[in-house]
Amino acid sequence: MERIVWNGFAMDVDLEATRDWYAQAEDWDCPCGHCRNWLALEGQLPAFVQKLMERLGIAHRKASHVCELYHRGRQLLYEASYLVAGTFVSDVAGVGRRNDAVLEERNARPYPTGFGEGFPAPCFVLRLEIWMPWILPEPIDGTA
Ligand SMILES: [Zn+2]
Repeated sequence: MERIVWNGFAMDVDLEATRDWYAQAEDWDCPCGHCRNWLALEGQLPAFVQKLMERLGIAHRKASHVCELYHRGRQLLYEASYLVAGTFVSDVAGVGRRNDAVLEERNARPYPTGFGEGFPAPCFVLRLEIWMPWILPEPIDGTA
């Protein structure tokens, strides 16, 4: 286990188990526009999020859950979750949610239920709540 402190949170991560799982995991495959737009944003997340995901070996396309919470114009508030092998330790800063990009842990079961079958235990969920632009060359999903 490696202790990682990031954005006010501490976690003990099994890097090898996490990387091994992402190396063979399936892509998130929801065909809706919101999800295709999230996948198209690979490599464009804020640097501090990108760096963490690279360190953990998390592949952007291999989310355990993606949804759009709402949007303002062409900016969408996404919720995207990724499984991490290890244990969430604490909210170091004691502030809970911070900024627009958030780690929310909980040593939880993967969501939706049944996803991540065989994921190494213990595990927790890296849940990002993050505003990102619509970049697909088509109207925003759900609008005419
Ligand atoms: Zn979708």
